[in-house]
Amino acid sequence: MDNDILKVLYSTDEIHAACSRLGRQIQKTYADKVPVVIGVLKGATFFMSDIVREIDTYMEIDFIDVSSYHGATQSSGQVDLITDISTDVAGRDVLIIEDIVDTGRTLKFLMTNLSERGAKSIKVCTLLDKPEGRQVEAKSDFIGFQVPNEFVVGYGLDYDEKYRNLPYIGVLKPEIYTNN
Ligand code: 5GP
Repeated sequence: MDNDILKVLYSTDEIHAACSRLGRQIQKTYADKVPVVIGVLKGATFFMSDIVREIDTYMEIDFIDVSSYHGATQSSGQVDLITDISTDVAGRDVLIIEDIVDTGRTLKFLMTNLSERGAKSIKVCTLLDKPEGRQVEAKSDFIGFQVPNEFVVGYGLDYDEKYRNLPYIGVLKPEIYTNN
């Protein structure tokens, strides 16, 4: 797998440091609350599990699966809800944990969906933010790293369902996806 990577953007240690920093910020923000922390599958699984263990206050966790890519490197533009949360978020403080915000469509879909269900507050923590990709307005409250407009994989992020288990985040060699 390492041979398919053009360059490493963030090492395992750098990701761990970002999780500690974000965990401290989140803990402060929710000091007197019990938030529902919702991880967005599948990309945010490793980030979710690392970040919640940096927080030493009460919380509930849940997962939601949405899809907009369908195996390509460009968003299809349509966001589908694949698997819903089981928590009733009405009146709750919600924190969405995302792997990356690119066009912003997934986040916009989630914010609208969760606010329609009566969430009291909604904040967003994303490991990666790709501002150059933005097509709809979508703001995150906690951001790990800002990334250039390149297709990245690893630490949960996939290309065609592969590379999620890389322990770092890297840029995929363009020939990997242009040859497919
Ligand atoms: P958006 O709806 O903001 O365009 O995209 C959000 C989702 O698209 C992310 O949760 C992620 O699954 C996928 N995505 C966006 N950019 C990248 C990227 O550079 N690499 C990978 N692997 N997935 C991406």
